[in-house]
Amino acid sequence: MELKKLGWNGYFEAQFAEFKGNDLLPARVSLQLKKQYRVIAEQGEYDAVIVGKIRHKAESLADFPVIGDWVLVKINPDGTALIHHILPRRTKISRDTTTRKGRQQIADEQVLVSNVDTIFVVTALNEELNPRRIERYLTVIWDSGATPVLILNKADLCENVEEAVEIMQDVAIGVDVHVMSATENDGVEILNQYLADGKTVALLGSSGVGKSTIINQLLGEEKFKVADIGDYKDKGRHTTTHRELVLMDRGGILIDNPGIRSLQLWDGEEGISKSFEDIEEFSEHCRFNDCKHINEPDCAVLAAVESGELDQDRYDSYLKLQGELSYRARKENWVTRQNTKKRWKTIAKVRRQINKRRGEDN
Ligand code: GDP
Ligand code: ZN
Repeated sequence: MELKKLGWNGYFEAQFAEFKGNDLLPARVSLQLKKQYRVIAEQGEYDAVIVGKIRHKAESLADFPVIGDWVLVKINPDGTALIHHILPRRTKISRDTTTRKGRQQIADEQVLVSNVDTIFVVTALNEELNPRRIERYLTVIWDSGATPVLILNKADLCENVEEAVEIMQDVAIGVDVHVMSATENDGVEILNQYLADGKTVALLGSSGVGKSTIINQLLGEEKFKVADIGDYKDKGRHTTTHRELVLMDRGGILIDNPGIRSLQLWDGEEGISKSFEDIEEFSEHCRFNDCKHINEPDCAVLAAVESGELDQDRYDSYLKLQGELSYRARKENWVTRQNTKKRWKTIAKVRRQINKRRGEDN
């Protein structure tokens, strides 16, 4: 198997340089079943597990391999492989798994799929269109480093396709939009352009919009050629948890990953700016450009809260969203977690102060 056909490129080659000469081979993760992996290397396919070092050093779920990752492996004499390193991800779609325990936030990021070039966002034209949700999906995908493509499926069930396309095109500026009827295999073939040699594609969209039908049309006869799970040890579980990477005859790589298909995506930063335009406006008068509106001097947002111009609840909700967002935006590790704890303490303190002062005013 040629690495290039698997999506290998100059970016990964550069990351690999420092490991060369260590008996480590590049391989791509094609299947993940809890702690067991399947990887494809130049020499063939292997069942793989991670070395203890990855587990010990892990500070986040994001430090474990996921489907789409390029990893460095050593092949055991028995034909299995050991994963030693994960090469830095070029793109990644993550789920925010932050949980709260009282005042403390336990932040974590779970990467669902990595190194995807294009994501097909699928929606059905027979249902009520939800431009806001699509907008959010597109924002998150741009954020991930991948390119979104919007698919409007079930055109055969829609009375006014033109109108629907117009509505969607308005929220999908700069995004390719394709209309199709997957069951009729009408319009699906246009998607082949995104599955060029070494390009990786994944699908996203609510249940029932036609993702499986599209995948099956694209795969045609070559269904599950490479990453076949047939001889996988853990047969019992694959139906519910399988995450598969499929190489297509024409060269592309399709990730059929139920885990990301209907993912609850987190609003991107842009989403927050849009929903809190009033706060953004106040913030233009803060002394510091990078004001976080927590305890900075001459903060116009805090001043607005104090004067009552800005609702306290709204301010709280803004801070909460900003806080959650910042977890996702940076790499999780203990240092930032400690800092975050401090920040939450500061926020709580400022809130108490504000509430106290308000109490005194009344
Ligand atoms: P998924 O949950 O997104 O994978 O959706 P499926 O591919 O399982 O499709 C859900 C249902 O919609 C199935 O009954 C399909 O046959 C049907 N379907 C998919 N695409 C089309 C289409 O273009 N037109 C029509 N009329 N039905 C479709
Ligand atoms: Zn401010």
